[in-house]
Amino acid sequence: MTLRQAPAPTFTLIDPSTGAAFRDVPRATVEEVDAAVATALVAQRSWAALPPLARADALRAFARAVEGAVEELAQLEVRNSGHPIGSARWEAAHVAQVLNFYAGAPERLSGQQIPVAGGLDVTFHEPYGVVGIIVPWNFPMTIASWGFAPALAAGNAVVLKPAELTPLTAVRLGELALEAGLPAGLFTVVTGQGSVVGERFVTHPDVRKVVFTGSTSVGVDVAAGCARGLKPVTLELGGKSANIVFADADLGKAAAAAPGAVFDNAGQDCCARSRILVERSVYDRFLELLEPAVTGWRVGDPRNDDTDMGPLISASHRSTVEGFLDGASVAFRGSAPEGDGFWFAPTVVLAQPGDRIAQEEVFGPIVAVLPFDDEADAIRLANDTIYGLAGSLWTENLGRAMRVSRAVRSGVLSVNSHSSVRYWTPFGGMKASGLGRELGPDAAEHFTETKNVFFATDPS
Ligand code: NAD
Repeated sequence: MTLRQAPAPTFTLIDPSTGAAFRDVPRATVEEVDAAVATALVAQRSWAALPPLARADALRAFARAVEGAVEELAQLEVRNSGHPIGSARWEAAHVAQVLNFYAGAPERLSGQQIPVAGGLDVTFHEPYGVVGIIVPWNFPMTIASWGFAPALAAGNAVVLKPAELTPLTAVRLGELALEAGLPAGLFTVVTGQGSVVGERFVTHPDVRKVVFTGSTSVGVDVAAGCARGLKPVTLELGGKSANIVFADADLGKAAAAAPGAVFDNAGQDCCARSRILVERSVYDRFLELLEPAVTGWRVGDPRNDDTDMGPLISASHRSTVEGFLDGASVAFRGSAPEGDGFWFAPTVVLAQPGDRIAQEEVFGPIVAVLPFDDEADAIRLANDTIYGLAGSLWTENLGRAMRVSRAVRSGVLSVNSHSSVRYWTPFGGMKASGLGRELGPDAAEHFTETKNVFFATDPS
């Protein structure tokens, strides 16, 4: 007979740039999740009853607290996630901007007045109640804020589960919310395993909406669980986005921008343009221009201001990424430090459409380059994966830019640039990349359900 061992009450965090353990974090139990949800339920009722201006003011105070802690949050992210300090500062400031933006929502969540005979018909945006937000390890604080800021603005309480590997900035954001005066229990960060904490968000009857960002395989299970509880779910999942370079593009600009579009955050980015599709007539020239851009990509200590890319998140993730090079045709690579961190040099491989590297999400600094023949071929190849999150196209032909951007089945596209995320524009994926949209002007409304009320005015 084997005795089942209870999991340790804590888990240990590793600095990805050194491989050294540096902190233990609590592993919450189902009972602790239930207690957080019960407290959230009570806090939500008072929060939703506040005047819109009071909720707006509270969120602005939270934003100011985050602004005051940008350096502290950034340093935590460098240590916990290996993000370069410049990126980490941007991410922390972005959280404050997202809070400020959705602080404008409580006073703008207007319903409708619909003409109906014999009375007045109006709609109200009612908050769901408690919202469960489950986030991955690649952008721990920004992705969390895309959920909690509009959810709180719409009058909900939030329970947030950070990824096991990277909980520190989320935990600090939870403390900052309290320091800024948000009611206790309104925004609670619960650290622990996905199969315990995350799964309990899905099954708990008082969590009325779930926002999940992570892998497609777990996302499908989360959606199935939410279906059983009849609760809405937003899914932000994987990607295999195409960067399409037409012969008429400014090739110098396209090649210079390509490394940033795939190697940012060491390729651990759901929007990574991890396939570069190049029109055959300029394929060789493009590769010549791409090589110096890749070898010039600075991989090193994330604490340095001039570092472009830090390490991968963990030793096991590095082996997964390395596995994608089995049998691959490597064209050229950049460099990476030696040593104990989870380093991986940026790598460019030449691929065919059916290759594993051209189909599966790597989530690391490897890009596949494929040639195409004409516009129709480019569209066909761009759409030739299960995913549909992001993408870019480079062309000087306006008509082509319009045609191709309408034909590529992705939620977020960019012409002659690689921008994906602006908090005031919608973000999300098609096909296996997700369900629903985050950010943009309508996100707070997505955390409400519409109530219709008819007031009879005719004398009976
Ligand atoms: P993951 O699916 O393993 O985990 C994501 C989160 O889900 C973690 O917090 C994890 O603890 C939790 N989880 C795990 N099992 C669960 C379960 N059974 N029930 C509930 N929650 C559970 O993903 P990851 O490895 O942390 O992140 C990488 C993936 O996230 C990539 O595929 C990437 O493309 C995707 N991603 C997507 C977006 C987007 O916006 N589309 C953004 C970032 C990352």
